[in-house]
Amino acid sequence: MNMIDLPDLKAKLWHQMRHDLKSLVPWFADNDLLLCPACCRPLRFDEFSLEHIIPQQALACDPLDVRDAVPRNERSGMTLMCRKPLVIKGRKIPGHGCNSWKGKFYDASLRDLIRADFQRKQLNSRHQIALFSAGYLALFRQFGYQIALLPSGLLMRNQFFHPNSFLRDVPLSCQVVLAGERLRSYEEGNREYWSEPFKITVDGASAFIVLRNMVLNLPLSRDPKLPLARALPYVPSKYAFRPDLRTAFE
Ligand SMILES: [Zn+2]
Repeated sequence: MNMIDLPDLKAKLWHQMRHDLKSLVPWFADNDLLLCPACCRPLRFDEFSLEHIIPQQALACDPLDVRDAVPRNERSGMTLMCRKPLVIKGRKIPGHGCNSWKGKFYDASLRDLIRADFQRKQLNSRHQIALFSAGYLALFRQFGYQIALLPSGLLMRNQFFHPNSFLRDVPLSCQVVLAGERLRSYEEGNREYWSEPFKITVDGASAFIVLRNMVLNLPLSRDPKLPLARALPYVPSKYAFRPDLRTAFE
């Protein structure tokens, strides 16, 4: 089943994300910019493109009955990422921004994971960081910019730009992937497995992300379910939000 109305989806996500960002960082009310969830550069609408968190090449490996029953966008989880070329430490990176970066470093590993038989599959650190980065995007997609702008968000955004090994500050509990046997066909009773790809449970200082038959843990500096004071200037610190707007690779 193909994607429909992609331009509309991009505009819809843009407005949703702008609304969320303005509520956390009022400076954005006076411009028409959005922060890329990975590099955190403020950019214009035309500098973003739609991102399938579970890449299309991975979804193409789903069984035919699944592809017929559940639309691709539903199986992937969608967000926006930048396509403006990255400049890291003065060096221009070829390609289209974070969108290409994810494609180059993570999408093949995500495809490997989606179709893996974990009885035999050996995971390497690239697989783990691919899953960690997809989990971060899934958290961002569910809870918005507060995830990206927390200290834990800066850590996860930094990790996104270090595809080969885990950064020292990433807790060991977040460097483990648990996996079970994957399902191999579609039935009415298991639609949930195939449709929403990420099921997220927040538990204090971490989030558990279930991606189909895999589970991982991601760090959180703040429980995103706690209410946030978005309008009052003076509130107890646990309801206040101090966004960290540093670009990931600065
Ligand atoms: Zn970016």
